[in-house]
Amino acid sequence: MKTTLRHLFAAALCAAAFSAPFATPALAVDWNGPQEPFALFGSTYYVGTAGLSAVLITSKAGHILVDGATPQGAAQIAQHIRQLGFRVEDIRYILTSHEHFDHAGGIAELQKLSGATVLASPEAVKVLRSGLPDKGDPQYTGPDGDLRPMTPVAKLRAVRDGEVVTLGPLAVTAHFTPGHTRGGASWTWRASEGGKTVDVVYADSLNAVAADGKRFDGNPGYPSARADIERSMATVAGLQCDVLVSAHPEFSGLWERKAKQPQLGNAAFIDGNACKAYVAAARTRLQKRLEADR
Ligand SMILES: [Zn+2]
Repeated sequence: MKTTLRHLFAAALCAAAFSAPFATPALAVDWNGPQEPFALFGSTYYVGTAGLSAVLITSKAGHILVDGATPQGAAQIAQHIRQLGFRVEDIRYILTSHEHFDHAGGIAELQKLSGATVLASPEAVKVLRSGLPDKGDPQYTGPDGDLRPMTPVAKLRAVRDGEVVTLGPLAVTAHFTPGHTRGGASWTWRASEGGKTVDVVYADSLNAVAADGKRFDGNPGYPSARADIERSMATVAGLQCDVLVSAHPEFSGLWERKAKQPQLGNAAFIDGNACKAYVAAARTRLQKRLEADR
């Protein structure tokens, strides 16, 4: 799909301006841009688009998919899964990072294709079930705003913070990370390859964003946003974290790490400091946002 200006603007809203140490300008990113799927580590694969992450964790007992990108991205994700030799029908669970169109807009379609159960935090479940954005979201500007409605998702279940989702040999833990939205969650699991086991983190967006003319800190629609995002930053910084994929891939330097894959193999994705660096960049953006709110 062609990227429209409105589309890029929405991307900027959701992703916010970017700063070191992972220096890729968010404005240049095409959410639905093409991207070949690739192995991350062990049975974990990147199946998202150029601008929106989606990760497949595979097993003989079935697969777990994290995030579904946009409706256009959903078709690409399904194609990527097939390209890797897996069946979309074998996805048993679809996990969600947060209840915005760019990460969850494709979930209804992927759920339909797979028959999977969709798991999200209780706050995200509310939005996914109705398909309507949270009116208290600091990015919400009205029914015609950039927080677009989504196709309502079937077969949804809310998880608890800290809940471990199991499927055969797979065990994926939910860590609630609200602040960017009320229903944000990050997910962790372990992946093994060549006798080495690593901790994988799928980190939710930690961007303090509000629509033009609105506050992030002290927004009446979401008064605890700042406290929530500060707590979520501490949560992500404290995770066991060897291989990080963030909901927007360029925010965790994924493409810089992937560039080293031909030389290093999948070890290219290991960076024990990745979560702390991701949070440090998010804290810098939060400080700027708080200055703007003053
Ligand atoms: Zn978002």
